[in-house]
Amino acid sequence: MSLYRDEGVVLRTHKLGEADRIIVLMTAGRGKVRAVAKGVRKTKSRFGGRLEPPGHVAMLLYEGRNLDTINQAESIDQYRPIRDDLDRMTDALALVEAVDQVAQEGEPNAPLYRMLTAALRTLSDAPQRSPVLVAGFYWKLLALEGVAPVLDGCVRCGRDVDLVSFDAVEGGVLCREHRHGPALDSDSLALMRRILGGQLAAALQEPAGPATSTVSSLATSTLEAHLERRLRTVHIMGGG
Ligand SMILES: [Zn+2]
Repeated sequence: MSLYRDEGVVLRTHKLGEADRIIVLMTAGRGKVRAVAKGVRKTKSRFGGRLEPPGHVAMLLYEGRNLDTINQAESIDQYRPIRDDLDRMTDALALVEAVDQVAQEGEPNAPLYRMLTAALRTLSDAPQRSPVLVAGFYWKLLALEGVAPVLDGCVRCGRDVDLVSFDAVEGGVLCREHRHGPALDSDSLALMRRILGGQLAAALQEPAGPATSTVSSLATSTLEAHLERRLRTVHIMGGG
C-alpha cells in the first residue's frame, strides 16, 4: 500500500460497520475521494469532529484497491462561524452537495476545489450572510462546467433588448417574442450579469429582495437542469 498526502473538504459521510465511516471529500489533488476513517464514531476517536462537513483537513492516506484509508487528519479550518450559525451551515451544506454532484472520482479539478474553499472562507468570514452566496456559487459552477448562462441576448434570436424571461433548460434569457420559462425583471438580470461578469464580491453585498430571490431560484433550477442532462448523457454513453 502506498501513502500520499492531500488536503480536502468533507462533502458527506456515511456509516460503515460498527465504528467506521466513509468520508467523501473534494481534494486539492485528486478530485473527489471516498476514504475510510477507522474508529471515527468512537467517542475517543483521534479524528475528533474534524471529518464532518464542511471541515477542511490536511490528510495522510493509504491508497487501497477500492477505498483509500485516512491515516491522519489535521484541521486546516473548522469554519467555526459556519458551525455556530444554522443559516450559514445550511448554505455550506448546499455548496458541498453541489460539489459532490458535479465532481468526479479520479478526476482532479483544482479550480473547483479552489472555488469551494474560497466560498466557504467567504461564508465563514462575512459579517452578514449574503442572500446570493449559494446562487453565486451555482452560477460560477455552471460556468466552470462550460455551461455559463447566456445573458447578453435572447438564446433563440440573439436580440439584446426587451429580454423578459429565463429558461433553465435552454440556459439563457429570452426576448418577448420567444419568451418561455419564468419571468426575468431587469434588476435580476443586472444582478446575474454582475455575478458572472467579475463583480461577484459586490454582488454578494446585495441586500435580500425580489432580485436576490429570483436569481437564487433560477440558479437552483439551472443547476438541476444541468445535472439531469449530464445524468442522461452518462446513461446513454454507458449503454443503459
Ligand atoms: Zn428572441
